[in-house]
Amino acid sequence: MSQIFANLDFIRAQMADAAHRANRPPEQVQLVAISKKKGPELIREAFDAGQQIFGENLVQEALRKKDALPGSLQWHLVGHLQKNKVRPALESFDLIHSIDSLALAERVDRLADDAGLNPRVLLQVNVAGEASKYGFNPQQLREDFEKIMALQRIDIQGLMTIPPFSAEAEDSRRYFAALRELRDELESEFAAGLPELSMGMSGDFPVAIEEGATLVRVGQAIFGERKA
Ligand SMILES: *Cc1c(COP(=O)(O)O)cnc(C)c1O
Repeated sequence: MSQIFANLDFIRAQMADAAHRANRPPEQVQLVAISKKKGPELIREAFDAGQQIFGENLVQEALRKKDALPGSLQWHLVGHLQKNKVRPALESFDLIHSIDSLALAERVDRLADDAGLNPRVLLQVNVAGEASKYGFNPQQLREDFEKIMALQRIDIQGLMTIPPFSAEAEDSRRYFAALRELRDELESEFAAGLPELSMGMSGDFPVAIEEGATLVRVGQAIFGERKA
């Protein structure tokens, strides 16, 4: 058994355990394999081990890999989307996790209209208010939400967050809970459907699942360490 195969097996077992602890059906949680900086051979290996969804943080890098791999893989964008990359991103990704401002939502909607597409997206929230991170500040999102909901083309599926870095998984719990509570609040205040919560990475995905994640974004625990 290859290392990637063994890693995926172990992660799936941990995901199922976490779902059971939270009394959630395990099939409610999908694994997004974050393949940034990893080549098509390794991605192919994960695909052969049954992994179907891959996440990248750069549009050009994702396009190169997409060309080198079977069309049945699904691609998600998890990194900041630059204005000049919206058009190619719309054609290439099944889900964009990183809509991080009203201006970007409006631009994506406008270009989607030109292209006749209905892109599935998540709104990225900077729950801890870190200066170094992209994302809506929660209060800003409450203020902008009605305008975002009024956009005709984008299909808003839920929220995404990246908590402050910590070596302790438990430190992330309150940020995951805050994202879920914000989702619940927006759903009831605006009669919106926001089923997806993208949260949890290699170091803390079981905690994220306990707090309601439906998409966990795991890189290094699958593919091994990334060299900077
Ligand atoms: C790199 C990255 C991940 C995965 O991080 P790991 O520590 O490798 O699991 C998840 N989400 C985003 C947005 C990332 O950029």
